[in-house]
Amino acid sequence: MKILVSACLLGENCKYNGGNNKNEDVIKLGNKHTLVPVCPECFAGLSIPRVPSEIKDGRVFSKEGKDVSAEFYDGAEKTLYIAEETGCQLAVLKERSPSCGFGEIYDGSFTGTLKRGNGITAQLLSDHGITVIGESKLWKIEDYQ
Ligand code: SF4
Repeated sequence: MKILVSACLLGENCKYNGGNNKNEDVIKLGNKHTLVPVCPECFAGLSIPRVPSEIKDGRVFSKEGKDVSAEFYDGAEKTLYIAEETGCQLAVLKERSPSCGFGEIYDGSFTGTLKRGNGITAQLLSDHGITVIGESKLWKIEDYQ
C-alpha cells in the first residue's frame, strides 16, 4: 500500500524550528508499505526555519501576526496533487500541526492550548476521501487494510 507521510516524521529537518519529529514506528511502516513523504509548508515555499503558525477563526497566522493562509492552502493543494498522482488513499500525518494535524490542533493563541480541529492539509485530504491518521494511532492502519 502507498501511504502519504509527513516528512518530519521520517526524520526530515523540515519543521518550523529546523528540526524534525522522527518517529521509528512510522519509519518501520516503510518495511511493508511504500511511503510518500510530503511537507506542505515546504511545498508552499515557506522557509526552514520559519516562524510558527496556528489556525484561528479558519485562517492561519504566524506568531508575528502575518496571515499566511494563502501559503498554507497552496501547500495543501500541492500535497493533495501528490497524493492523487501517487495513488495514496491513506496519510499518516504529524499530530497538532496547523498543516498536518487531524482531530486536534493548537488554538491560535500560541500558548500550547489545543482545540478540536484539523490542519489545512489534513482537512483537504480528508475532504477528498483520503484517510488521515496521526502518528500515535498507527494501529488504525490494521483496520484500514
Ligand atoms: Fe511536518 Fe507537516 Fe509541519 Fe511539514 S508541515 S514540518 S510535514 S508537520
